[in-house]
Amino acid sequence: MDKDRGIVFNIQKFSVNDGPGIRTVVFLKGCPLRCRWCANPESQAVRAEILWDAKKCIGCHHCIDVCPCGAVTAVKDRIVIDHKKCTGCGICVRECPHKALKSEGEIKTVNEVMDVVMQDLPFYEESGGGITLSGGEMLAQPEFAVSLLKAAKENGLHTCCETTGFAKQEVFAEVITYLDTILFDVKHWNTESHNEGTGVNNELILANLKYAVEQGKDILPRIPVIPGFNDSLKDAEMIARTIYETGARKAQLLPFHQFGENKYEQLGREYSYKNVAAYHREDLEEYRQKFNDNGIEAFF
Ligand code: SF4
Ligand code: SF4
Ligand code: SF4
Repeated sequence: MDKDRGIVFNIQKFSVNDGPGIRTVVFLKGCPLRCRWCANPESQAVRAEILWDAKKCIGCHHCIDVCPCGAVTAVKDRIVIDHKKCTGCGICVRECPHKALKSEGEIKTVNEVMDVVMQDLPFYEESGGGITLSGGEMLAQPEFAVSLLKAAKENGLHTCCETTGFAKQEVFAEVITYLDTILFDVKHWNTESHNEGTGVNNELILANLKYAVEQGKDILPRIPVIPGFNDSLKDAEMIARTIYETGARKAQLLPFHQFGENKYEQLGREYSYKNVAAYHREDLEEYRQKFNDNGIEAFF
């Protein structure tokens, strides 16, 4: 992919939870992290991926016959896609008689994305909204992200992103030049624990958060509160202190949910949080209070 084309897996209109006002959220494929609780596992690879729905499949094996790459096999009673062989051509999706296969991820140009985004200009103008880049992680396609944000700015739009902040500082600095608001994930205060839960350390992330605050950007750190990972009161206190040190003074708490479970099944992957109960706001009141006690205004 390059500055003119990227892989997009969803464009969601009329979002009201991803930055100020009414927004169109563009979900870019690819993420350098591997969070054990990830609710969008189909977003992680920077390529199209085929999902198989067991409930719709009639076991005709037509997909095996039509795949030009030999990427589809039947193992016991399920269809398995070898993602190393699959080129994402989409033939199996088109040929499946019961629509049991779905492709996540499509190559789109900047103009194609912006044509969709600009359809809702009157709603942005009325509500103070605009475009939000999400993922996956938009920093996994930095040139495409910059092109989209530049195009949005040329059209006078407010720009926002949801990010892990995990990228080389020069890459991060270039992308945020074109951002008005940054929703910035902070997952753990301790780098070993961060690595254990997400597959990467947190030093670069925290350095980028501090950098963004120093640039005077409108930053909202967001903490996914994950059972057994960062949900103790000590974690709350330490995350709050860590955020405070970067210069930010507010944070949003995102209680754990299991929305992604079905997608793991469709990708043929194990879901580590299968039987873990979701959190609700009322479960996390003390947790939230710890942030306030440590100088961070926290809300849900
Ligand atoms: S073509 Fe569709 S219905 Fe037939 S086996 Fe493949 S996924 Fe199942
Ligand atoms: S998308 Fe193309 S290459 Fe991939 S499994 Fe389907 S038919 Fe095979
Ligand atoms: S950062 Fe987000 S998209 Fe990436 S693995 Fe973690 S939860 Fe999934």
